Amino acid sequence: MAFQGLAERLQATMQKITGKGKITEQDVKDMMREVRFALIEADVNLKVVKKFVKTVSERAIGQEVMKSLTPGQQVVKIVKDELTELMGGEQNPIQFSRKPPTVIMMVGLQGAGKTTTTGKLATVLRKKHNRKPLLVAADVYRPAAIQQLETLGKQIDMPVFSLGTDVSPVEITRQALEHAKEEHQDVVMIDTAGRLHVDENLMQELVDIKELAQPDEIFLVVDAMTGQDAVNVAKSFDDALGVTGVVLTKLDGDTRGGAALSIREVTGKPIKFVGMGEKMDALEPFHPERMASRILG
Ligand code: GDP
Repeated sequence: MAFQGLAERLQATMQKITGKGKITEQDVKDMMREVRFALIEADVNLKVVKKFVKTVSERAIGQEVMKSLTPGQQVVKIVKDELTELMGGEQNPIQFSRKPPTVIMMVGLQGAGKTTTTGKLATVLRKKHNRKPLLVAADVYRPAAIQQLETLGKQIDMPVFSLGTDVSPVEITRQALEHAKEEHQDVVMIDTAGRLHVDENLMQELVDIKELAQPDEIFLVVDAMTGQDAVNVAKSFDDALGVTGVVLTKLDGDTRGGAALSIREVTGKPIKFVGMGEKMDALEPFHPERMASRILG
């Protein structure tokens, strides 16, 4: 289960302090040492760990907490609040365009789950938001990628726009936008090419598509199982392209949690959805508070 190690360690640490009738500065320091180790072990970015520990310590050692009737519980609440804050605070909804179609660009490295997530998100858009998405196959480098999207489209009964591999991704996007307007498809989801690594050509192509399509959302899909690599990938994509949100996939696996806890703080961009499996209904909005509750038990 995801976050298992972190959850167990933090819960054990919190249990020690919850029932205390009186708390000393030393108690807080001891607790924070354990919290620090737990976060590092969960593969959370070191700078993020440091800042988190500092913020929680400052608040926990504050007068109101120390003098309150239930200082232990107050400290646990502070940890939960700050964990929630670390993951972005509020749940972050999809931005729709006032003038349809809403354009969503899906970007990410190969294997992160981009195409699968495109299908899942399209399903959410139809079911929860009553929209009519058009899926656009803009990965012209791998015929298999186009085929994968077409198969997915059939599976979920969603139209796929494709011009094969001989037309440029920018031109595909341009024609897809026209097609969507003609067919009254009110969301255009562009499944862009992935690469094994971040490279300049890929970024330039994505920037070109972005300039043409003026997307309302650019969702970066990253694999939670890759930990801090996912965070570095997120930073590179955001620096080059400016993403509007992150989709963290494979949270159903046994990820330690480092990516989920670091991405927002490192990139400033919210996690909007999490992938919880391979099936088309396994995409959930990301709720920082619920995730913090899950981790702290
Ligand atoms: P892309 O290359 O980024 O388009 O990646 P794909 O969409 O082809 O996904 C790569 C693999 O990851 C596929 O086997 C997917 O079924 C799998 N996958 C995607 N999202 C999830 C998820 O949230 N959980 C799990 N367990 N597998 C996922």
